[in-house]
Amino acid sequence: MDKNIVWHDSHLSKAQRSQLKNQKPCILWFTGLSGSGKSTIANALEAKLYDSRVHSYLLDGDNVRHGLNKDLGFDEASRVENIRRIGEVAKLFVDSGVIVLTAFISPFISDREIVRHLIEEGEFIEVFVDTPIAVCQARDPKGLYQKALSGEIKNFTGIDSPYEAPQKPEIHLKTDTITVDEGANQIVEYLQSKGYIC
Ligand code: ADP
Repeated sequence: MDKNIVWHDSHLSKAQRSQLKNQKPCILWFTGLSGSGKSTIANALEAKLYDSRVHSYLLDGDNVRHGLNKDLGFDEASRVENIRRIGEVAKLFVDSGVIVLTAFISPFISDREIVRHLIEEGEFIEVFVDTPIAVCQARDPKGLYQKALSGEIKNFTGIDSPYEAPQKPEIHLKTDTITVDEGANQIVEYLQSKGYIC
């Protein structure tokens, strides 16, 4: 890093910005296979949070790849960089007092741990959207498994690239046994019980 670039401290603190919003900021880091339900549950949760006047922002995998990360591919180095940048952006949102939802496959434990350690203790909430691959393949909402199985897409998580499941996620959703609404409610209850929201 250029030694002439120094971090500029703001006059306002994260605590003050959070207090104004009456919430404790954090990152809800959704991880799971493609088609597991990350975006669907994150969107349902955002709607619930909005109704409760909670300030949140959803960073969605596909959307970020259209802009911020459009120069990145899907090889291992690019995936690591993809997650690193998202982590840094999410950290800025946390600093602004917002509850950030991220919906990325984020298949590697080490990458998720990098983000966990970017921010303060208790600010990283790992949400494991745990759906058997057979169910994800049957859903195949974007037709990606079909393309991966035919070889049209390479390095596809769960097919020819590994997915490392969280070992101790803060929240564990088994979407083959609960509805989208139940999944979103489970997260709201967690946030309330830990004092992130009222
Ligand atoms: P991801 O973001 O993990 O790639 P999506 O949310 O885009 O997955 O797709 C998940 C699909 O599974 C959606 O079509 C959704 O309607 C469907 N689905 C069915 N049951 C559930 C459930 N219980 N939780 C989440 N998604 C579900």
